[in-house]
Amino acid sequence: MPHKIKIIGAGLAGTEAAWQLASSGLDLEIELWEMRPKVKTPAHHTDNFAELVCSNSLGSEFLTTARGLLIREMEHFDSLIIKAAKDAKVPAGQALAVDRDLFAKYITDKLESHPSIKIIREEFDQEIIDNNDEAIIIATGPLTSAKLSKRIQEFLMKTNPEAKSSYLHFFDAAAPIITAESINMDIAFKASRYDKGDGADYINCPFYNKNDFDNFYQALIQAKRAPLKDFEKENMRYFEGCMPIEAIAERGQKTLTFGPMKPVGLKDPRRPNDRAYAVVQLRQDNVVGSLYNLVGFQTNLEWGEQKKVFALIPGLENLEIVRYGVMHQNIFINSPLFLDSNFRVKQSSNIFFAGQVTGVEGYTESAASGLMAARSLIAQIKKTNFDLPRSTMMGALSHYISSCEPKYFQPINSNWGIINYEPEALEMKYRKNKTLKNEFLANRALEALNS
Ligand SMILES: Cc1cc2nc3c(=O)[nH]c(=O)nc-3n(C[C@H](O)[C@H](O)[C@H](O)COP(=O)(O)OP(=O)(O)OC[C@H]3O[C@@H](n4cnc5c(N)ncnc54)[C@H](O)[C@@H]3O)c2cc1C
Repeated sequence: MPHKIKIIGAGLAGTEAAWQLASSGLDLEIELWEMRPKVKTPAHHTDNFAELVCSNSLGSEFLTTARGLLIREMEHFDSLIIKAAKDAKVPAGQALAVDRDLFAKYITDKLESHPSIKIIREEFDQEIIDNNDEAIIIATGPLTSAKLSKRIQEFLMKTNPEAKSSYLHFFDAAAPIITAESINMDIAFKASRYDKGDGADYINCPFYNKNDFDNFYQALIQAKRAPLKDFEKENMRYFEGCMPIEAIAERGQKTLTFGPMKPVGLKDPRRPNDRAYAVVQLRQDNVVGSLYNLVGFQTNLEWGEQKKVFALIPGLENLEIVRYGVMHQNIFINSPLFLDSNFRVKQSSNIFFAGQVTGVEGYTESAASGLMAARSLIAQIKKTNFDLPRSTMMGALSHYISSCEPKYFQPINSNWGIINYEPEALEMKYRKNKTLKNEFLANRALEALNS
């Protein structure tokens, strides 16, 4: 008897999952549900599957970039999304940029004509039940329909009643995440406000010079913001606790120095008698401590502007941003509470989530998670395992979304900070040169996949 599988949402993740399953050689009955064009989302414009709602780039193809490694890993697994991107590629330097219509059409045609896939152009609004007769992959993205969002909430609450208040998130803006190695610790210092916690849980970047702060402030309020879509303007509701830093700054300098940049309770061991005028705090963002986020610095500034303005913060002159602050409507589940590293619901072995709704961020990451969810399901049917090592970008992403601290869980791009490696294992020449180091890590990841 064939295994029945429902994939909900024919976006980047759902189409990749459908392709992987349909190409598995297993006897499967696959239903791929897509609500467009009957029910629209605020960001999609066409009826095509895998529509790119904003930029037309899947990221750099260079192996020494985190995205480049992710793309190579996906190619290793015969990814439909990467095949389509290469087919629809347009010249864009080292970026894998595409003609978005050709890209989406390639994918739509491949799946619509596949004999094992039945396309259902309806909004999925059924109770989600763990049922041994069929598996479900929910890949409905950051703009999951309201009806299904409610169903997901109900289902997740049942699987983990203690997680009541954090089963689905909605946020306006996110703060940038930077690499620990790009922080200048000759200027920044470790301390917790009023010595709470371990006493040194945060990295602090102090403004001792008021002129430096004034320059930063002017740059912040004058910086260009990312343009909002009409629907976002209409629905623009700031949560006070999640207001973009530039919007807080507009209320006056003191809203910063009495708010997210307040210097009180922070002692710099190198200058015990001085009090800074303002301080930016950085909070550790992953277990190994290779990533930090700028506390309270959620933002809607254009990405280039973020780099320029935040580099004016003392200690961040050379900051390397691995996840830029963004603002748009976005729902995602608190995955560490609910999913294992196979994108499977911990308490419901036949239900998987994939794509942006799991807290991976970006087109390529969404597709990669669809690939991993499908491959995990294939392994489950074959009674084998699909466990990618954390030295690979895909393995690192799945580990992050399933094991991050749920309280601070925010969507994540592919980046080198989540890759697992022992610094001692790196020869000195790799430690000192970032490109060499990335190349070493990338080759190691690809070797792991081939072994
Ligand atoms: C406004 C906006 C701009 C973005 N810009 C970028 C960018 O420039 N670069 C980048 O890398 N990432 C961007 N992202 C983030 C993310 O990469 C994309 O949203 C990406 O499309 C996510 O892939 P996905 O497969 O998870 O979801 P989607 O591609 O959105 O696919 C989900 C699909 O599910 C369908 N669906 C929803 N609910 C139901 C239902 N109940 N029944 C049936 N079908 C349903 C939707 O119609 C959609 O086709 C952006 C996101 C948003 C919202």
